Amino acid sequence: MARSDRGRNLLTSWQTWALVGVLFVLIVLVLWYALENPRNQTFGNTVTQVPVKQKVVALTFDDGPNPPYTDEIVDYLHAQHVPATFFVVGRAVVQHPESVRKEAQDGDAIGNHSWDHAHLVLERRPHIAREISMTDAAIQRATGVKTRLFRPPFGARDYAVISVARHMGYQVIMWSVPLPKDWSSPPPSVIRDRVLPYVKDGSIIVLHDGNRGMPGDRSSTVAATKLIVEALRAQGYWFVTVPELLRLGYLEHQSGASPSAPE
Ligand SMILES: [Zn+2]
Repeated sequence: MARSDRGRNLLTSWQTWALVGVLFVLIVLVLWYALENPRNQTFGNTVTQVPVKQKVVALTFDDGPNPPYTDEIVDYLHAQHVPATFFVVGRAVVQHPESVRKEAQDGDAIGNHSWDHAHLVLERRPHIAREISMTDAAIQRATGVKTRLFRPPFGARDYAVISVARHMGYQVIMWSVPLPKDWSSPPPSVIRDRVLPYVKDGSIIVLHDGNRGMPGDRSSTVAATKLIVEALRAQGYWFVTVPELLRLGYLEHQSGASPSAPE
């Protein structure tokens, strides 16, 4: 083979690999957008930003209960009269029912975050339904509360995940403030600074008091929670649970939809 042919073959194979690489990255990006981007509504309606005129936000905590961090957060929020919403993992609820009971007793809302934090888009419908119903039973045993809120693990959902949850009577709750990656324990001020620029009226913020339903150090999140509450309070925000935020959004929608409705 002539030297120039070898050069051309080399170039061709280099270009082919570059093309394969670009295509691969594109496919991953499209898949991520479709399955995990919180704003994507392709597979069915989910809640992200709630359109309200009031200066209110919803703080949500995922993956617990995970004592002592969950309890520290709950105690702090209770002392500050700040209600929040906890999306709990079933296998952790049966380990620490007292932590979830405390959330409910303090006026926090509870949401379902699956049994074992599985990637539900990889599972069949009966499995998805079982994850949700087992967690629902654990929450009810621990608290007496029947939740109507569901957040898929990793935010990953497709048509099956959303339709199963909705058929079971759940609203699928995502978020509007980008995840601050508090699970990797950056300094609390870093977590705060990743959250604050994105907060608007009706925002839903996600922090992690737990670790996919297993033990894990969340002291950074505990400290960041205090910084975020202080900063948003200073900006004039009020904190509401997700059900309350949905109610405010519904009222807003009603008043906007029928301005001349009879009294
Ligand atoms: Zn999670």
